[in-house]
Amino acid sequence: MAPVLKSKIAIVGGGPAGCICAYFLRQKGFQPVIFEKNSPLKTLLPTGGGRCNLAHAEFDLRELAANYPRGEKFLYSVFSKFSTAETLEFFEKIGVKTYVQDDFRIFPVSDSASDVRRMILEAISGVRICRENVCAIKVLQGGFEVRSESCAYFFDKVVVAIGGHSAFEILKGLGHTILPPVPALCALKTKENLSELAGVSIQYARAQFGKKSLCGDLLFTHHGVSGPLIYKISSLMARESFPYKISFDFVGEIELQEILNSNPHKSIKNLLAEFVPKSFVQYILRVSAIDENLKASQINGKVRDKILKSLTAFEITVISASKGGEVVTCGGVSLDEVNSKTMQSKLVKDLFFCGEVLDIDGFCGGFNLQNCWSTGFLAAQGAGNE
Ligand SMILES: Cc1cc2nc3c(=O)[nH]c(=O)nc-3n(C[C@H](O)[C@H](O)[C@H](O)COP(=O)(O)OP(=O)(O)OC[C@H]3O[C@@H](n4cnc5c(N)ncnc54)[C@H](O)[C@@H]3O)c2cc1C
Repeated sequence: MAPVLKSKIAIVGGGPAGCICAYFLRQKGFQPVIFEKNSPLKTLLPTGGGRCNLAHAEFDLRELAANYPRGEKFLYSVFSKFSTAETLEFFEKIGVKTYVQDDFRIFPVSDSASDVRRMILEAISGVRICRENVCAIKVLQGGFEVRSESCAYFFDKVVVAIGGHSAFEILKGLGHTILPPVPALCALKTKENLSELAGVSIQYARAQFGKKSLCGDLLFTHHGVSGPLIYKISSLMARESFPYKISFDFVGEIELQEILNSNPHKSIKNLLAEFVPKSFVQYILRVSAIDENLKASQINGKVRDKILKSLTAFEITVISASKGGEVVTCGGVSLDEVNSKTMQSKLVKDLFFCGEVLDIDGFCGGFNLQNCWSTGFLAAQGAGNE
């Protein structure tokens, strides 16, 4: 198979990281070629529930980096070159107006991921996009062979931006350590059957897991738990082994005895429903074998403590991540082997990485796309250095 493309730089993967890298390479006068097995930037469409939470309004780079359970230190140097301000400047330049939501998440004014995709694609129009699946990248004398199912191409430099959900096989032979990808930012399966609580949500629960504790909103599902609080826990615990326990406090410090004393004629079911959803009350009373119609005055100390335990130390056993629904994966190319100033491999000259293929993942809130914009920019600077 003869090499047919005359371009110096290949970008493997046309997701957010690959496309922004192509944009900045073009700015430097290069004609990169993107290899994309699907439709370019298709992965942007579901982001932010279709609204594309493209960044987070955090302008202090250390504070920003603290939102990445994997990659925090590596990102200090990355964000010192390209961070939230530069991201907003980039979007402004390509015609995407943005706004900051109350929770500091940044969205396009159109609230449309599809618009963002269109604008980025317009901004890189002219970049050749090869709709091919890359099967292997080989190091040759003075360059690389990028091999697809039908052809082999030669390039001086290669930027790998294949994301975190891909098979990493194409990187075999390049010598890099790949930390096995596991789901992060996902729902969790529990040993306990909580299916009768599916759909019930509880706000401001405090979770205790390992030595950590976090507050947030929780949603019960058919197989376990989900919601913002659980996504964050799944991310922090992504490298821990299953099973692990989470204990929830749903009510904070309440004086249950005082509450019972002040409402002697109220049923325990209705009384507790003032603090947590009624269906949850019914569940804990049933599991604890407490008659839901008991009046508050009929609750003795032992029963009170049982109720209190269910409300303040509700324990679940997490047995796995819910497969398939993850927003990002934890894992990828080891950061020890990548230069954080240029995104260049420390093992293979002229090989670069950007985006989720790196062992970097952040919490929900625009942090994962921020990683793509920032490392994509730096990879362009690195690869574009003659
Ligand atoms: C439902 C959902 C919602 C999300 N919402 C947000 C959000 O609102 N904000 C946020 O910050 N993050 C969000 N994320 C995470 C964010 O989408 C990812 O972090 C981001 O897409 C990663 O970009 P990437 O370019 O590194 O990889 P990807 O987006 O995965 O792109 C990689 C590209 O490479 C291509 N590719 C892979 N292997 C090959 C190959 N061998 N040959 C050719 N092409 C190949 C793929 O087809 C793909 O197009 C969300 C993720 C999901 C799943």
